[in-house]
Amino acid sequence: MNTLLKNKNILIMGVANKWSIAWAIAKVFHKAGAKLAFTYLGEKTKKSIEKLMAQEKMENVLLIPCDVTKDEEIENTFNTLKDEFKTLDSVVHSIAHAKKEELEGEYVDTSREGYMMAQEISAYSLVAVTKYAKPLMAPGGSFVALTYLGGERVVKNYNVMGVAKAALESSVKYLAHDLGKENIRVNAISAGPIKTLAAKGIRNFNNMLKAFEEKSPMGRLIDTEEVGNTALFLCSDLSSGVNGETIHVDCGYHILGY
Ligand code: NAD
Repeated sequence: MNTLLKNKNILIMGVANKWSIAWAIAKVFHKAGAKLAFTYLGEKTKKSIEKLMAQEKMENVLLIPCDVTKDEEIENTFNTLKDEFKTLDSVVHSIAHAKKEELEGEYVDTSREGYMMAQEISAYSLVAVTKYAKPLMAPGGSFVALTYLGGERVVKNYNVMGVAKAALESSVKYLAHDLGKENIRVNAISAGPIKTLAAKGIRNFNNMLKAFEEKSPMGRLIDTEEVGNTALFLCSDLSSGVNGETIHVDCGYHILGY
């Protein structure tokens, strides 16, 4: 238990189930005293989040439906938060999606529709979310997005999602520039591979995990709690001078040249 996020109002977008990175972040934030709200996609997900909250004894958490492909749902999310929270200190964007058939084979075969979908849900959504959240953000506020090494380097089968992550990481820098003058920061966490619902869509994901574990300088996989702790740092006042950064939480895997 710590008080790093005491009196902070935080929206977490992207909890789907107990394996979600967003859920690991939520648990860390809850222990740090944050007042939380979640967005969810679909009623089934809402039920699953309610179950998780009950297990974790998380009370008074606001649940808001939000499909990020719909501007009106994003706008409604922040209107609801304005009514309930008045101001917002942080937003965690832990959302990505691509068609399964785009996450195998060669990138050269990416369809126009598959490309647009991955970009819209996984990269543009951060821009739209930031735009609607901005009027509510308190000075010292912070946005955090989740990315992966496949946005910087070629990772087999990651294909269209790698290009979406490159756009997301670049958006983090442009948004950090725009919002910086209002003392609002925008950063990303580049997490090592973790077995989640989204990751299951990537062909041979288990091989990726195995290779990561073998080659990683620390000789192990990362734990989602480690991502949660870095998100805690980025949403707390401890990181008040960190803006436009992508922090790798990957046991040092990204430094390798072999
Ligand atoms: P996850 O499946 O638990 O989370 C993905 C979330 O995106 C889900 O909650 C889903 O409902 C949401 N989503 C998809 N389409 C949406 C839409 N149209 N509107 C609103 N929400 C939508 O998987 P995860 O691995 O926890 O993914 C979270 C983030 O972490 C993603 O950005 C992912 O790319 C990133 N990431 C994952 C890994 C990994 O190995 N799992 C590594 C690095 C980064």
